Amino acid sequence: MKYQYSPDNKIIIKCSKCLNRLRVPLDKGKISVTCPVCGKVFLYNPDSILDTLKQIVISIRAYVARSKRNKIIFLGVVLAVILALVLLVLLMKRNKVPLYPL
Ligand SMILES: [Zn+2]
Repeated sequence: MKYQYSPDNKIIIKCSKCLNRLRVPLDKGKISVTCPVCGKVFLYNPDSILDTLKQIVISIRAYVARSKRNKIIFLGVVLAVILALVLLVLLMKRNKVPLYPL
């Protein structure tokens, strides 16, 4: 996952409600984040795969909102992400055993 790391060990995440960019510490584990723009309070755990996936989904939403494209493109991106995740899970489960043993 590509993130913007800064020297003070912080990470840029996006508010799940208003898509505002927030800088949160990476080394504090699970933290409660309050968005200064919309007041939304949410939990963020940099070690959680689920939260990382959520951020990816939010990034896609932000991109779609910015580009004002139609929903078909959004669905296509979501499907592509789901497909990529399924492939990732398959690769993780693979564990040195070939996917298609001959
Ligand atoms: Zn917000």
